[in-house]
Amino acid sequence: REYAAKCLSALDTTATLLRSAESMLGDLDAIAGDGDHGRGMVRGSAASFEAANLAYSSGAGAGSVLIAAGDAWADKAGGTSGVLWGAGLRAFGERIGDAEIPTPEVLAQSVRAFADRIASLGKAEIGDKTMMDSLLPFASSLEERVAGGTPVEQAWEAAADDAREAAAATADLRPLKGRARPLAEKSLGTPDPGATSLAMVFAAVGPHFT
Ligand code: ADP
Ligand code: MG
Ligand code: MG
Repeated sequence: REYAAKCLSALDTTATLLRSAESMLGDLDAIAGDGDHGRGMVRGSAASFEAANLAYSSGAGAGSVLIAAGDAWADKAGGTSGVLWGAGLRAFGERIGDAEIPTPEVLAQSVRAFADRIASLGKAEIGDKTMMDSLLPFASSLEERVAGGTPVEQAWEAAADDAREAAAATADLRPLKGRARPLAEKSLGTPDPGATSLAMVFAAVGPHFT
């Protein structure tokens, strides 16, 4: 269960990172949204680590640990991003499975499954100024690099750089989905909170998953 332990430490890192970013993410969300993005991400990631820890302690494999984490995240976070993160994490775990250490191809497919699940629930498209704006570039970049033979650690790191740039570029967009839509003009000049947090988390978990 070596990979299950790695997934657990990825979730631990995520929860710690989001605790330290809570006020920054809340401030971003307060500009055109309701200011609770930091709080929601902290609640979701803390609950997900707790649930994952419990699952791991009772012998679960990587996929089951991630599924438990996703369900707890969706249940406890509150808000749009919590439902989407939870469902995405569940899809990621379903694709990873419990069997063994995933190949780079399976890892890239699992990230794609995370993105597909969020896309089908949230129905946001690229350019709508949501988390999809950093998630889709991440997923495509990882897939392309893995398919091109880049070692998976480097591929993940480069994809995370692409996601960070894409998140920053959302500052130029007006939100077309979610709570920030009515105050779209106020949001101009500020990056999307959900795209920002997603890029941060994906950058931080790379060393655990690869
Ligand atoms: P809420 O908007 O319910 O208060 P959060 O503040 O936690 O939830 O999350 C806001 C973030 O959720 C936005 O910055 C955006 O990235 C993301 N989001 C909102 N609606 C959607 C959607 N339909 N699809 C994907 N992401 C979305
Ligand atoms: Mg909010
Ligand atoms: Mg809210």
